[in-house]
Amino acid sequence: MAAFDWRTHFSPFLDYLNNSDQTAWAEVLTDQLVRRFEDNPHGDMARWQAALEALPTNLPTKVDLTSSAVTVTTDQPLGEQNAESLELGLRGLMPWRKGPFNFFGTHVDTEWRSDWKWDRVAPHLADLNERTILDVGCGSGYHCWRMAGAGARQVVGIDPGLLFMFQFLAVKGYLGESAVDLLPIRMEDLPENLEHFDTTFSMGVLYHRRSPIDHLLDLKGTLRRGGELVLETLIVDGPEGFSLVPEDRYGQMRNVWFLPSCPTLIRWLERAGFKNARVVDVSDTTTEEQRKTDWMRFNSLADFLDPNDPTKTVEGYPGPKRATIIAEKP
Ligand code: SAH
Repeated sequence: MAAFDWRTHFSPFLDYLNNSDQTAWAEVLTDQLVRRFEDNPHGDMARWQAALEALPTNLPTKVDLTSSAVTVTTDQPLGEQNAESLELGLRGLMPWRKGPFNFFGTHVDTEWRSDWKWDRVAPHLADLNERTILDVGCGSGYHCWRMAGAGARQVVGIDPGLLFMFQFLAVKGYLGESAVDLLPIRMEDLPENLEHFDTTFSMGVLYHRRSPIDHLLDLKGTLRRGGELVLETLIVDGPEGFSLVPEDRYGQMRNVWFLPSCPTLIRWLERAGFKNARVVDVSDTTTEEQRKTDWMRFNSLADFLDPNDPTKTVEGYPGPKRATIIAEKP
């Protein structure tokens, strides 16, 4: 099989950057993509690429980005051969963690009901119509599709997980050229102070950062003046100033650093120079929202909670609770 043709995949996005006064970013990104795909290719990439290429392409399709499952449909009969290769392709892209998706009637029930998070966040956002959006740590890009469905002009998701990128391309392949892109890079790989985006999302990322205030400053640098930050992260109950730093793991996750109280988080945002920071939602994460499914067969939240007291993690910390905060860059 030919190597993954990243130049074809990313050339419309590189053109977009070059046409929007972001030539320096286009150059840095090209170097990063060469390193990622040519100098140091992931060992599973050929397998994921084969799975992606197995997905049927010989039918007229429609994509719905406004329903709880991001949905690809056709008005033609799928046929036995297509049904087989669809199953092969979708199974080859397992584990599916962030979604759900529906491809030609096959419902990909992901580990996370990411649509529930979207339903909690979306009512509080500035109108996304015609906005240019960055989604940091976008996973499979599920929320990027929903942002596009809400009318965004341009959506850029970044996530270093390469399987996520192939899951993203599974949808993108049915849309043709769309102004939604997933770049397989980390936040730290973005040029500083892009000041390019109208809205920047960071959902499920802050607690993975060792320097949370630096993360907030980096997020601020991505926004134009007056732009909106949407921050979603794990929090704990507690007074202003309080923050939990787990001794080691939290809910079996290794890389969890700071779980602030809401007032602490607001203070961090103010210190980072955001204004009008406000908590718009606080929700417990339940074993209905994050669970093992036929499309993600490894351990999930139920296995990470104390079996005798499911309000606590196996380590004895308070169970997962998340807050969404919206703030503006002055
Ligand atoms: N935003 C999605 C996914 C959250 S999971 C949601 O809310 O449902 C956290 C994601 O952050 C993972 O996919 C992980 O690969 C990504 N991530 C971790 N460190 C990152 C970094 N430094 N820069 C960008 N993404 C990162």
